[in-house]
Amino acid sequence: MRIIKSPAKMHEICRSFSAKGKTIGFVPTMGYLHQGHVSLLEKARKENDIVILSIYVNPTQFGPKEDLKKYPRDIGNDKKLAKRSKTDIIFIPSDKDMYPQGYGTFVDVGSVTNNLCGISRPGHFKGVATIVTKLFNIVIPNIAYFGQKDVQQCAVIKKLVSELNMFVKIKVLPIKRENDGLAISSRNVYLSEKEREDSRILCSALYYAKKSVKHGQRSSDKIIAKAKKMILSKRSAKIDYVKIVSQDTMKDIDKVEKKAVMAIAVFIGKTRLIDNIVLG
Ligand code: AMP
Repeated sequence: MRIIKSPAKMHEICRSFSAKGKTIGFVPTMGYLHQGHVSLLEKARKENDIVILSIYVNPTQFGPKEDLKKYPRDIGNDKKLAKRSKTDIIFIPSDKDMYPQGYGTFVDVGSVTNNLCGISRPGHFKGVATIVTKLFNIVIPNIAYFGQKDVQQCAVIKKLVSELNMFVKIKVLPIKRENDGLAISSRNVYLSEKEREDSRILCSALYYAKKSVKHGQRSSDKIIAKAKKMILSKRSAKIDYVKIVSQDTMKDIDKVEKKAVMAIAVFIGKTRLIDNIVLG
C-alpha cells in the first residue's frame, strides 16, 4: 500500500494505470475510518483492479462555527484498516495543495442543495461538490463509492457527475449501523455515554416511519409528527430537521411514494447526527 501526497504525482500514477487498461475504484473520505468506510473499500476491491482511498478533511465544506478543528483524526488506524481492506493507494493531499493562496473556483450544483443540510449548513455542498470534482480530476476513477448515510451528498454527486459530463460511475452502498441501530459515523466519538444511549432514538424514529408506511400510512405530515415526538422524548435531543423527500430531487413530498426517503438531522447534546431510511 502506497501513500501519495502530491496531487500531480497521484494523477500521473492514475493515468498510467488507465493507460494499462486497469480500472480504478475510488473511495473519498475524511478519514477516522470505520466499518462504513470499510464496506465501501471492500466493494471497490471486488469490482476494480486498483483501489484508491482519499483522506482529506476538506475545510470548504465546514461552516465557520463547525467542527473542522476538532474533527477526529487517526491516520495510524486509518492505514491499518485501509491495508486490511487491501487498498492499493491512500491519497492524502494537503490544504496548501488543494486550496493554494488565492484559490477561487467552486462548484454549485443548484436546487438539490436547497433543502435539508443545504439549509442548516450553508455552503456545505458547494465545498463537497468542489472537493469531489477536484478529487475526480486527480484520480480519474472508473467507479466512485459513496454511502447512503449521506443521502443528500449522493444526490449532489450524481447530479454533478451527470451535468458536468464526468464519466465516472457512482455507486451508493447501504448504511452500516452499530448493533443497536445507530448509523456508524466518525462523529459518534463526540458522544458521552448517556448521549450515545439517547442517540438510538434516531434509528428508532426511522424504523417507526418505515413500519407505519408498511402498515399503509402515506401522509408525510403524520409520520413526521410522530417521529419528531419520539425524538424529542430524549432530553438531549434537538431537532434540526425531520423530513420526507424525494431521493433524486431532495424536495419535500406530502405523500409517501416510490423513491421517498425520510432524512433526519438531530443534535444530541452538541453533536449533530444525520440518518435516513428509504420509505418508498
Ligand atoms: P466521511 O469520511 O464521513 O466523509 O464519509 C466518507 C464516505 O463514507 C461517504 O461516502 C459516506 O457516506 C460514507 N459513510 C460514512 N458513514 C457510513 C456508514 N455508516 N455506512 C456507509 N457509508 C458510510
